[in-house]
Amino acid sequence: MPLEIVRNDITRMEVDAIVNAANNALLGGGGVDGAIHRAAGPKLLEECRTLNGCETGKAKITKGYDLPAKYVIHTVGPVWHGGGEGERTLLSSCYRESLALAKAYDCETVAFPLISSGVYGYPKAEAMQVAVDEISRFLMENDMTVYIVVFTRDAVELGGKLFKEVTAYIDDVYVADHYDPYREAQRSESFPAAAGNGLFRRAHREDTARNETIFRQTEMAAPKANLEDMLSQIDEGFSQMLLRKIDEKGMRDADCYKRANVDRRLFNKIKNNPAYRPSKQTALAFAIALELPMLEAKELLMKAGYALSHSNREDIVVEYCIMTGNYNLIEINQVLFRLDLQPLGY
Ligand code: ADP
Repeated sequence: MPLEIVRNDITRMEVDAIVNAANNALLGGGGVDGAIHRAAGPKLLEECRTLNGCETGKAKITKGYDLPAKYVIHTVGPVWHGGGEGERTLLSSCYRESLALAKAYDCETVAFPLISSGVYGYPKAEAMQVAVDEISRFLMENDMTVYIVVFTRDAVELGGKLFKEVTAYIDDVYVADHYDPYREAQRSESFPAAAGNGLFRRAHREDTARNETIFRQTEMAAPKANLEDMLSQIDEGFSQMLLRKIDEKGMRDADCYKRANVDRRLFNKIKNNPAYRPSKQTALAFAIALELPMLEAKELLMKAGYALSHSNREDIVVEYCIMTGNYNLIEINQVLFRLDLQPLGY
C-alpha cells in the first residue's frame, strides 16, 4: 500500500530509509533522534559530524549502519511557536525534501516519524495532517511505499473531527444492531417469569413457518434451472465493473488506484484478470476512490464476494463515510488506524 500508518518503533522498520527528526547540529539528541543513534551505533554520529549540520526544513542522508534500514534521512523540523511563524511551511518542506532525497537514492520504502511532534511541540493531529498531505501529494507523482510510524502512546492524541463523528456513529449502530430479540428470548427462557417470553417464541415459530412457505412457492414458480445456462450468463465481475466505473467517471487508471491507495502492480493484476478476487479492503478502497454512492459501493463489493455488515466495525466506519459523502481514503484510514482496525487499500 503506498501510504500506510503503522504503530511501531521506527528503529525496527525494515525499509530502505528511515527519517530522523534531528536538530540543526545533527549531532544526536533525545526522542526519536536518540533512539536512532542508539540503534545505529557510533558510526552514525561519525558520519553526521562530516555533514556540517542542517537547516530547518532541509534534509541530509547517511548510511543506516546497524539499523535494518539502509539509510537514515535526517531532517530538521520547526519548533512550534503557536503556528504563526511559518511552522507549517517548514514542516511540509521537511517531508518534501526527505522524499526527494529518498527518490534520488532509489528508495522504494521509507518510514517517517511524526516530525516536530515531540519536544518541538507541534500538535500531533496537525503534524499528522501535514505528513499525510505532503506524502499523498508526492505519491500522486511517484511510486514508493511510505510509512508514517506512530509510537503507540502517541496514537491517542490523533483525534480529529471525523474520528469523533465516526465513533459516535459506531456506538449508535453497533449497540442498536446488537440487540437480538431471539437471544433476549432465550435469556428470558431461563427466567420463565419474564414478560414477553411466550411472545418471542411464537414470533419465531411464525417466522420459520412463513419462510418455509415462501421457499416452497419459489421452488414451484422457478423454471427448471440449468446449471450450464446459468454459468453462461455469468454477471459482470469485479474487474469489469471497476474498469467500467473508471471509464464512466472519466478517470485515468492511475488517478483511481492512487486515490485508492493501491499500488500499480496490484491494480494491473486486477485489470488483467477478469476473475481476480481482491481483498475486502481493496474492494472498499476502490469504492471510495470512485466516490460510489452506497448502492453502487455495495454492488462493487458484492462482485468481489463481500457485503457491508453492522457486526463489523470497519464496515460501519466506511458506511458512515459513504453516507456523509466523505471519500477521502487517507482520512478514513486515519480513523481506522485510531480504532485499531484494518486500513483500506491492501
Ligand atoms: P521533535 O524534536 O522533532 O519533536 P521528537 O523525537 O521529540 O522530535 O519526537 C518526534 C515524534 O517521534 C514524537 O511523536 C515522538 O513520540 C515520536 N517518537 C519518539 N521515539 C520514537 C521511535 N523510536 N519510533 C517512532 N516514533 C518515535
